[in-house]
Order: sequence, then C-alpha cells, then structure tokens
Amino acid sequence: MDFALTEEQRLIRETARDVADGFIAPRAAEADHLRKFPEEQMRKLAELGFCGILVPESLGGAGLGNLELTLVVEEVNRACASTGVTLSVHNSLCSGPILRFGSESQKKRYLPRLARGEIWGAYALSEPGSGSDAAALACRAVRKGDRYFLTGTKRFITTGGRAGVIVLMARTDTSHKQKGISTFLVEPAFKGFSVGRKDEKMGIRGSETVDLVLEDCEVPAENRLGDEGQGFTIAMNTLDGGRIGIAAQAIGISQACLDSSIKYAKERHQFGQPIADFQAIQWKLADMAAAIHAARLLMWRAAWLRDRGEPHTTEAAMAKLVASQAANRIAKDAVQVFGGAGYTCEFPVERFFRDARITELYEGTTEVQRLVIARSLLK
Ligand SMILES: Cc1cc2nc3c(=O)[nH]c(=O)nc-3n(C[C@H](O)[C@H](O)[C@H](O)COP(=O)(O)OP(=O)(O)OC[C@H]3O[C@@H](n4cnc5c(N)ncnc54)[C@H](O)[C@@H]3O)c2cc1C
Repeated sequence: MDFALTEEQRLIRETARDVADGFIAPRAAEADHLRKFPEEQMRKLAELGFCGILVPESLGGAGLGNLELTLVVEEVNRACASTGVTLSVHNSLCSGPILRFGSESQKKRYLPRLARGEIWGAYALSEPGSGSDAAALACRAVRKGDRYFLTGTKRFITTGGRAGVIVLMARTDTSHKQKGISTFLVEPAFKGFSVGRKDEKMGIRGSETVDLVLEDCEVPAENRLGDEGQGFTIAMNTLDGGRIGIAAQAIGISQACLDSSIKYAKERHQFGQPIADFQAIQWKLADMAAAIHAARLLMWRAAWLRDRGEPHTTEAAMAKLVASQAANRIAKDAVQVFGGAGYTCEFPVERFFRDARITELYEGTTEVQRLVIARSLLK
C-alpha cells in the first residue's frame, strides 16, 4: 500500500500518527461529549507545521503538497473527526485559495498567521437558500469607493465563529449566475460582521458550525480575492481540494472503525471462542479493509494530480464519493461487530458512526459528486 510514498512522506505520516495517538485521540470523546472546539489539538498540530502544510516555507509554512495533506488529515481523523475537519478546512479551504488566487500582500498578511495557528481559517459558500446549487447564492456585495458592503447570511460555516479570516463568496453582479460571484477575505473585526446561530449536530460535535450574518459588512476592496466575477471558479477549484480532504476524513474514520473492530473481535468471546473466529465477522473485517485500500488509492491519485497541476475535478469527486460511502458502510458494520456494546458510549464506534454521516453531506453531497462525475462522462 505504501509503494507510492517517499521516505519523507512516510515520516510525515508517522509524525501525524504519533500526535494523533498520543494527544488527539485521548481528547476526542471529551470534544464530542462537551461540544468542545479542539483548540489545544489545533495548537499542537500548528507546532508541528500541520496548520500550514500547503503554505511555502518562505511564508512560514511547511511547503508541502496535497498528498502530504491527505496523510496528515487521515491520521488526525482516525483519532478525532472534529479536529480533522477543523484542520482540513483550515488548510485546504482557507489557506489553499489564498495561496492559489491571492495577491502577494494578501498572502503575506494571512498565510504566515494561518500557518503558525495564530488565526484559524474558514470558508463560507453555503447560504440558507443555496447549498447544492451553490451558484444561486444571494449574499450581495456592493462596491462604493474603496470598500465593498456585504449583506446576507452564510449558513453552516465550519469554524465560522472563531476564524481570523474567512474566504467568503458573495454576489457582485445580479445579471449573471456563476459569473456574478466574487470572493472576499473577511475578518470578524470588520464592521457589520456577526456570528449567528450555532448548530447542534449529530456528529463532529467538537467542530463549530455557525451562521455568519453580514449587515452592510465593510470589506476593503484590497480584500477581494481574485477578480470580480472569478468567485465561483475560486469556490469550485477550492472544493476540488476540499473534497480530497473529506475523502481523507472518511478514510481516517474508516480505519479507526477497522482497528477497533479487529481488537474487539479478538477480545470478545461468545460460544466459547473469540468472535473473530466466526466467518460472519471475518467477512466484515475483510470488506472494510478492501474498501479502505481502494478509497485511499483513489484519494492519493486525486491529490497527486492536484499537486501536478493536472485536471482532477472528477478524480476528487470519485475519491470523496467512494470514501464517504465506504465510511458509512464500515461504521455501520463496526457497530455490528461490537454488538450492543457498539451502541453505548463506552466504545468509540458509536461516535465513528455519527461522525461518518457528515462525509456524505458536506463539500457536495453524494448526489452532487455523482453529478460531477456523470457530467465528465457525458460531455
Ligand atoms: C456540519 C456541516 C458543516 C458544513 N461546513 C460548511 C462550510 O464550512 N462552508 C460552507 O460553505 N458550507 C458548509 N456546509 C454546507 C454543506 O456544504 C451543505 O450542507 C451541502 O453542500 C448540501 O447543501 P444543503 O444542505 O443545502 O442540501 P440541499 O442542497 O438542500 O440538498 C438536499 C438533498 O437534495 C439533493 N439534491 C440537491 N440537488 C440535487 C440534484 N441536482 N440532483 C440530485 N439530488 C440533489 C442533495 O443531494 C440532498 O440529498 C456544512 C454543512 C454541515 C452540515
């Protein structure tokens, strides 16, 4: 399985695995039960350079690529999906587009602080009236002199209430759907910005999900990311990377399910033998392992293509589709392997089951990934 990784990449994965096992996993149940934002966990990851994976070394980052990002995000998600999504959004949905589309001064202003973990990053595309149909967003941006005034509500924003910078999409032109959208770098201190309701969730409860309310929010024109009208392109390019991150999340959760299931199946005895001796259990474990390997290869390939600057929209959608569906099957089977114990909070598989569910929903639902893949087949 590791044939594609260099020595350096294996070392990065080992480092991520150590911090995931030693620091993040022991705090995962608490983050979930208390709905506690994984602040300490994110600080620890920042110390290791994992909050600036894509950021060049000249700007204080690790200067690595998307493949390395998947290695870290998978390991962190194996321990805690709340920390995992916070990390993925920070790197791929916030630092990523600033790096790809930002001016030199925008990069210098935000990327070093994001890389050091002094500020957290967020990405705001969804709205109450636009989810899958993201280009239908209604949040309005009107330019007056050297400022834009933004009005509207952004919905379901991960880390939205704690972020120091938010990559936010708003409409600068009402006469075009996709081409009427622009992207802005919004700071919480900007006049007219406030955080709205916070969502109570089924899973990833330690991550924060909030509404952002913009009431004539004043954004300096220099904080527009890219050109006017380029916002939808930026949003979709960013999601190509983000979807690889959600595949990594799904694979991390799946691996955690498999590891826990193997351990439990060897320890739990029924009918005078370990349940691991029953073929019904063995087949579940075998199917889990095969699905994880297949999804991981798809994910690595999509990340590799992105790093090479080659087209990867379809591959990223395939990786997310396959990995997220596998995670939901695997988490269901893990609860089954544990029997009644799997339904209790004594073991983490009930958390894995709840956490896996989101991977089929955000950054494009399963149905949307299929639309993306089918479009490329039928064009
Ligand atoms: C915990 C959480 C965190 C999130 N974080 C962020 C974030 O940080 N930033 C951000 O911008 N957004 C975020 N989101 C929003 C997320 O990306 C959207 O929820 C997602 O894109 C789906 O949109 P929707 O919820 O409006 O569902 P809808 O678009 O209303 O879809 C409802 C159902 O209809 C189906 N459907 C819709 N259109 C089609 C179609 N054309 N063909 C077939 N089926 C279709 C969908 O697949 C789904 O099953 C988050 C959401 C959650 C729950």
